[in-house]
Amino acid sequence: MRIHRLPEELASKIAAGEVIERPVSVVKELIENAIDAGARRIDVAIDQGGRRLIRVEDDGCGIRADEVELAFARHATSKLSSVDQLYEIRTLGFRGEALASIAAVSHVTLSTKTSDEEAGIRIRLEGGVPQLVEPVGRPTGTMVTVEHLFYNTPPRLKFLRTDATESGHIARLVSAYALAFPQLRFSLMHHERLVTRTTGTGALYDALLAIYGLDVADEMLEVPREEGQRLRVWGYVSSPAVHRSTRQEITLLVNRRWIQDNSLSYAITQAYQSLLPQRRHPIVVLHIELPPRDVDVNVHPTKQEVRFQHPSEVFSAVQRAVRTTLMGQSSVPIISRVDGSYGSRMAPSREGERSSALLLPEEGRVGDAPRRMWEPGDSNEETVGGERLPMLRVIGQLAQTYVLAEGPGGLYLIDQHAAHERIRYEELSNQVGRAAVVSQELLEPRVIDLSPRHAELVEEHLEDLAKVGMEVSPFGSGSFLVRSVPQHLVGGDVAAALAEMVEAAEEGGAAFSWVDQALITLSCHTAVRAGQTLSFDEMRDLVRSLERCELPHTCPHGRPTLLRMTRQQLEREFGRL
Ligand code: ADP
Ligand code: MG
Repeated sequence: MRIHRLPEELASKIAAGEVIERPVSVVKELIENAIDAGARRIDVAIDQGGRRLIRVEDDGCGIRADEVELAFARHATSKLSSVDQLYEIRTLGFRGEALASIAAVSHVTLSTKTSDEEAGIRIRLEGGVPQLVEPVGRPTGTMVTVEHLFYNTPPRLKFLRTDATESGHIARLVSAYALAFPQLRFSLMHHERLVTRTTGTGALYDALLAIYGLDVADEMLEVPREEGQRLRVWGYVSSPAVHRSTRQEITLLVNRRWIQDNSLSYAITQAYQSLLPQRRHPIVVLHIELPPRDVDVNVHPTKQEVRFQHPSEVFSAVQRAVRTTLMGQSSVPIISRVDGSYGSRMAPSREGERSSALLLPEEGRVGDAPRRMWEPGDSNEETVGGERLPMLRVIGQLAQTYVLAEGPGGLYLIDQHAAHERIRYEELSNQVGRAAVVSQELLEPRVIDLSPRHAELVEEHLEDLAKVGMEVSPFGSGSFLVRSVPQHLVGGDVAAALAEMVEAAEEGGAAFSWVDQALITLSCHTAVRAGQTLSFDEMRDLVRSLERCELPHTCPHGRPTLLRMTRQQLEREFGRL
């Protein structure tokens, strides 16, 4: 379609707004234009966090020489012509505003050539005013150079953060588009240093690998694409072994458009419930595909938020996809030897804390991984995945803390407390789910005194407490009468358990319900401790119950319940291989 000005009544239906807030907004608009132009290669270069220079070059269809000036006019677009199309948008851009807005606050040079024209054309504007239009020799495609951003709007300039922050935003954006379009080759240079490069093979995994490096890519679980559905959710989610301190590595792509959606991020975090340590977040790349008519992209000036026709359907599809993947694939972490000491792949201090690849790494990422003597999952037979544990044979107890067992995957070390917590937690949540909590009436009601803060929390949640089997009633001035407690708490420190339950439940992240959080604390209180000697029968019971758990690999706080050393590892260490 030729570029044309949108008629007034159509232009007025478009969610308008100032779209250029900072350098990353410019990069976003230029990348979207390149993608809409059918580019297969998109190269981005920035200098000084984008404030001095932003250059985006593509090999797309180019702009006809007689249309370049029009392309910079407000509401001039080749992507939309009728109001009806506005409800079924298939391009990333549609407002015809970006080039005009960028040109208004910078010096822009655009060189372009279409495939059926002999020569290309170059146009240069300052503050939106054309300075020069001249023919230029160049290959098919478009290169836009934006210099001195916000030179004529000093307040905007003052609002910008450090170069590192601005370029961090840009790197994040390029990564997100690379994940959205794995079939395109992206590169990002900052100060002539390569930050990101993807290969454009079309496989999402390859894009993940290029962006996050091998260590993280290795830990990603595939959410398969289900053909034939109207609503499809697919991509990759991190195994519980990898996590981050923020939600920023949750990339949501709706019909390949990168969006922010708090309720969907929440759905994902919730799916990780009891698998991650508190306040830690997964790395997730999810494509959500649905008919364009079922999603309104014309609600936000920078198009970063969308409105779904059926939000709850999308919410549950996302949650189901993530949960199913996690339950089906999480496996027992293999002990690996790192720099002479033994660490597990589950240890958050290694993988979890590694700086994000998106923060402009100084060096290559693959080379700086700690050296591993033992590679995880050496051979396929040895990789024991699946939601349940295999049958394990108890060998004995170590340091009154770990149960040693033998299984098809080699030697298993089970943390008796963490494992018991998991068992208790599932038992209790099942009971709560069926409204069949096994609680025991105390022979004599107990009076307990709580601090004012705890007393207040208990009073607010009397009903929730009843749900988990604690029948408590106020007894005046910070005292409470406890009539019944969950079965396993009989004989335990009821006052301490109660105080800790309400405290933890109150502080628990948004991903956990109050009752769930209370159950986690309760599980901890009723589980065997480290340092407790267990008989063989007790160990066998523990292992049998763990085998029956739905998510046996982590305790409800997200720590591993067991580690494994493969036979191959042992053979290699003993020099048998
Ligand atoms: P929109 O993308 O909403 O249409 P823009 O202001 O971003 O508005 O761009 C205006 C028009 O200029 C586009 O509709 C497109 O026809 C043309 N254009 C912009 N960038 C490119 C590019 N990189 N390659 C080809 N055409 C482009
Ligand atoms: Mg555009």
